[in-house]
Amino acid sequence: MLRCLTLTAEKDTEKIEDIRRSAEFIDAVEIRLDLCEAKTPEMVNSVVAESRRAGCGSVILSYRRPQDTADGPSDERDLRQEELRRDTLRRALQPGVSFVDLEYDATDDELRRRAESLGIRLIRSVHDFTGVPEELPEIVRSIAAAGGIPKIACYPRSSGQVLQLVRMCGEVQDVEEKIILGMGVFGFFTRTAPWICGSMLTFVSAGEKLAAPGQIGPREMEEIYEASRHGKKTVLFGIIGNPVMHTRSPHLHNRWFTDDGLDAVYLPFHVDDAGSFMELAETIGVRGFSVTVPHKQRIMEYLDSADEGVRRIGACNTVLRQRDGWYGTNTDLEGFLEPLKSLLAEGRIRQALVIGAGGAARTVVYALRQQGIEVTIVNRTAEKARALAAEMGAGCTGLEAAENASGAPFDLVVQTTSVGMEPVIEGDPLPQFRFSGSETVYDIIYAPEKTRFLRRAEDAGCRVIGGRGMLQAQAELQYTRFRDSYNLWV
Ligand code: NAP
Repeated sequence: MLRCLTLTAEKDTEKIEDIRRSAEFIDAVEIRLDLCEAKTPEMVNSVVAESRRAGCGSVILSYRRPQDTADGPSDERDLRQEELRRDTLRRALQPGVSFVDLEYDATDDELRRRAESLGIRLIRSVHDFTGVPEELPEIVRSIAAAGGIPKIACYPRSSGQVLQLVRMCGEVQDVEEKIILGMGVFGFFTRTAPWICGSMLTFVSAGEKLAAPGQIGPREMEEIYEASRHGKKTVLFGIIGNPVMHTRSPHLHNRWFTDDGLDAVYLPFHVDDAGSFMELAETIGVRGFSVTVPHKQRIMEYLDSADEGVRRIGACNTVLRQRDGWYGTNTDLEGFLEPLKSLLAEGRIRQALVIGAGGAARTVVYALRQQGIEVTIVNRTAEKARALAAEMGAGCTGLEAAENASGAPFDLVVQTTSVGMEPVIEGDPLPQFRFSGSETVYDIIYAPEKTRFLRRAEDAGCRVIGGRGMLQAQAELQYTRFRDSYNLWV
């Protein structure tokens, strides 16, 4: 699979510099004449020469029309402009250019002839920023039949559309040379694992300016997703969420896969509909995935089986493909207990106060109750605290009562609300609560590392635990499950 650097730097000299800097991470370079200061044969010549020096085998030449860019349609579609564009593109063709990109709906016999005489292959492209073209298979076939390389860059706007894109790519898998990429967050995995759509290359861009929505840099593509190492046989894992692009999980899991020498990749899937994702997962052969907000509950209806924790908590953060179907487990449970291990072993936790009654609180309360600890729940919405307490055999109390009780009776206080989490880090869920100094205070928020609540507890002399340990522990546990799943399928 080729990794192609689209040259997007503002100045032409910086473009040359970008090739030098990215050399070890790329196999090809795309010159977008529309993004060049000098749209001249000399400019193209200097890029070709630099690409050779950098060891990049292929150079793609394109001159994008305004309507084929993320900036959207332009009024400047008059014939004179178009003729100028074509003329510039034709004149820039020269030995050393491997491919020239001509839009599918444009005809240019002169450019075609000139390209042919220089041994330059023709890419015929469709850029659809509105969605996924329904006639994608027909377009791909007609371009391939005419000897061109089809390039479809489309913009799936939902999990349903990305599923449709992947299915249509399946219909044309016999067309070997093609480029098909989904832009934006829904299509992100088609860039980092381009073989899923049967694409012969993926585009990356250096620096601040992206050539298209969803692109990442060459170093990121290689260091996080190891694009050069993977291909059709690579086993797929990932994480589903909405949003999901901020997650650091791909950094962790991909590093562990590499350390263990496994041909597997962990991809972020932006998902707005769990059902469509499950169909996608079946279609492309996902063997396990992490689940994050807001899908931890919704994913349950698609599981064929689940462990007791998942059934009791009603939330699942890890899904594995077993031989007989999808199996759900919840590593948040063990992950949460991990930093408390020694305290639990010493029997030093008997009474706990849990602040919050949301999804994470369900896991926390269940985990503590499993350990035989008495739990009292307090939550902004009292009714939710009452319901959770009744379900888990815990007690509950009101906000005011909890603040007045302050400290003393509890060995452990667990903060599970989102109050104090980035970006609003100055929040405190129980501002009047006074710590005695003897309790352990555990805030499961991991960004920031220490919340205001936790800093207050520390100042009062409490032993404090932040959420990063839980995050790391649940991810490590998840990884061991993914590794088992890998071994089952390979
Ligand atoms: P959730 O289901 O949406 O629950 C949010 C909880 O926060 C509810 O109890 C809610 O109270 C309370 N809350 C929200 N805004 C509030 C406010 N302004 N004042 C008082 N209470 C407020 O969310 P979740 O999935 O449980 O996640 C909660 C936190 O846990 C997040 O910060 C998440 O990052 C963290 N977490 C960490 C880990 C880890 O590995 N460290 C794992 C999972 C979750 P109401 O019921 O009154 O709305």
